[in-house]
Amino acid sequence: MNNNSWCLFFMPIWPPGHTIPMVEAAKRLLQCNSTSSNPLSITFLLMQTPTADSMSNITESYLQSVDSLDLPIHFHQLPVVKPPARFDDPEEFITIYVQLHLPHVKDAIATSGSRVAALVLDPFATSLMDLGNELNIPCYIFHTSNAAFLSLVLHLPILDEKIKQEFSEIDEPINIPGISPVPSHLMPPILMNKKSGSYKSFLYLGQRYMEAKGIIVNSSIALEAKVLKAVEQGQCAPEKPAPVIYPIGPIVSIPKVGPEEHECVKWLDLQQPKSVIFLCFGSRGGFELPQIKEMAIGLERSGHRFLWALRGPCTGINFTANTNLDELLPEGFIERTKGKGLVWPSSVPQTEILAHPSVGGFVTHCGWNSIQESLFYGVPMIPWPLYAEQNLNAFVMVKEMGVALDLKLDAKNNNFVTADELERAVRSLMEGSDEGKNVRERTEEVKREFRKAVEKGGASYAYLQQLLNQIGKLDSV
Ligand code: UDP
Repeated sequence: MNNNSWCLFFMPIWPPGHTIPMVEAAKRLLQCNSTSSNPLSITFLLMQTPTADSMSNITESYLQSVDSLDLPIHFHQLPVVKPPARFDDPEEFITIYVQLHLPHVKDAIATSGSRVAALVLDPFATSLMDLGNELNIPCYIFHTSNAAFLSLVLHLPILDEKIKQEFSEIDEPINIPGISPVPSHLMPPILMNKKSGSYKSFLYLGQRYMEAKGIIVNSSIALEAKVLKAVEQGQCAPEKPAPVIYPIGPIVSIPKVGPEEHECVKWLDLQQPKSVIFLCFGSRGGFELPQIKEMAIGLERSGHRFLWALRGPCTGINFTANTNLDELLPEGFIERTKGKGLVWPSSVPQTEILAHPSVGGFVTHCGWNSIQESLFYGVPMIPWPLYAEQNLNAFVMVKEMGVALDLKLDAKNNNFVTADELERAVRSLMEGSDEGKNVRERTEEVKREFRKAVEKGGASYAYLQQLLNQIGKLDSV
């Protein structure tokens, strides 16, 4: 082994929206370090997926593809632990499950025999900073969402002090540094009950993020300049030293073209440029039958071609869903829309679809990776937030970024959307309305800015170099 060699440990959680951007960031760090005489290697500590669903297949096949590249990235499978039996919500489940791995993480680092320069932790692994302190290894958080949500998380301890009621009980909008005041009903559902495990988990993150040596943000000043500045200036927690942030995004994995095209892509190959509206709702987005019926009516009436990744209601911690289209869709829908639309009852190769020239719009659940993927390929969006921090994402996409067209949701009824409203939004985005035109133009602009930001000389690339220089200061370890 070269005496100057050094290594990093990354600890992601298993959903593709967390693992994939962290591995892609690792690839960029290696690329940036490739001319250095101090060889870098990166080890990923992987937990057994506690929830076997179609999304874990996406992570699995992605990891296999990276493994075959022969890069100095190693995947270390941690020993299996028993998942927690008692928890309030998915966020609390994940937080506890990660903590149960602490002794195994410690073993893996202690027996690695390498010079460990840093631990890069998923937000849900923030509690492992204690281990970093114990082993005297600097810790960095990899914030998998956008800067607007980072600002909210960092500001949450102050909001918690100031606002004693639930957010849903107050009339005034909520002030979050760097973004327009957020109407209280649009605050993320994970923060709507102060007694819940998810609220407590995020309050904890808000307190502990500030202790990290740095926060790597999967975002870019090409898109979130104002809020990133507010965070960088320490406006979120003014009584503490400002956090050091590294907005190195967008981190989007480029789809690999395999020998066999997916059925959905084959179908897209037959369509006209920008003629298809694509609907997909992330790792846990499923719908009840009355909502599916409204969606089907709205899509059919819009007259536009569609590709719809559809799941029934997702239940349990592994979000199992009914994928039987005959039971989910209104009678005769498939026959009536044959040739015009394709409904796919499971996960789809989303980046490949968004990169396809036939796709002209995206109805999205507003997961942050999905938003960035859409922008990277210049696809304008209709935001339909469902869970996690997505309400806030939808708000900033429309209000701050101008890359999505507003969709009227019934916040009191699980963000229900009527057929009329979906039809209106699809027509407006896909046809010649002023609103649709503005969104399409702004999306094209962001696509260009995104590509510049991550290239050598771009703002995100500069942050990546700063991060590498900071982490690589081994004498400070
Ligand atoms: N994804 C996919 N196929 C699907 C649904 C999702 O490939 O059918 C990918 C998507 O491209 C994205 C990730 O899974 O990279 C979901 O991450 P996001 O942050 O958008 O949503 P969440 O994980 O919160 O649901």
